[in-house]
Amino acid sequence: MIFSDLHTHSCFCDGKNTPEEMVLSAIDKGLKTIGIVAHCFTDFEPSYCVSRESEEAFKSEMKRLKDKYAEKIEVKCGIEQDIRATYPAEGYDYVIGSSHFFWFNKEWYHVDYKKDYFIDVINKKFGGDYYSAAEHYYENVSLIVEKTHPDIIAHFDLITKFNEGNNLFDTSHPRYVRAQDSAINELVRYNIPFEINTGAISRGYRTEPYPEKSALDKIKERGGKFLLSSDAHAKENIAFEFDKWAKYLGD
Ligand SMILES: [Zn+2]
Ligand SMILES: [Zn+2]
Repeated sequence: MIFSDLHTHSCFCDGKNTPEEMVLSAIDKGLKTIGIVAHCFTDFEPSYCVSRESEEAFKSEMKRLKDKYAEKIEVKCGIEQDIRATYPAEGYDYVIGSSHFFWFNKEWYHVDYKKDYFIDVINKKFGGDYYSAAEHYYENVSLIVEKTHPDIIAHFDLITKFNEGNNLFDTSHPRYVRAQDSAINELVRYNIPFEINTGAISRGYRTEPYPEKSALDKIKERGGKFLLSSDAHAKENIAFEFDKWAKYLGD
């Protein structure tokens, strides 16, 4: 099967490799299209983002690679736009919409940073109630299309990153299901594809992609579309396990 991977990162944000190293690796892997995206700038947490100063350099490097490798692969330049982005996404080939933060007025916390940190946030900010955190999380996720105008919806259930085997909370709990359901119902209306994102597998956090199977089935049932993506932050993880997870989608 010939694949495309539209969600990868380079050293212009928090990735390890240069865009050219990513493109060369994608050619090696026989991909039809490689899309490299920058994390949008968020002024309250700039550490993982493309800086305002390097955004133009990123776009022009991507343009150079697009021309240089035009005969071998299609190269696309995108942005992963968080609902809390400081600036609108402009001048990119496409937008991946995402939500990475718990947010209360001016206080924010990462959803997907580290397990200890995550547990701490749930304890301190949600009184240890994971379902309250899930309600908050999916309210934010529901805003992805409205706030980011994306071409692709990123890692729909990122909140399950550290919850392998339901070790922290039960994703069949009625409150979790209700919160997730309302985000699915809101997002499927737009007919924008959801990712099947293998990034947390390649980084050793999970054994299944986002979204987990129960959520994927619901999105599918309600007419949602999907595409495979790796969220690779290093060239070796481009198109990670795509062959295997293409089957996850069923026919
Ligand atoms: Zn992301
Ligand atoms: Zn990403």
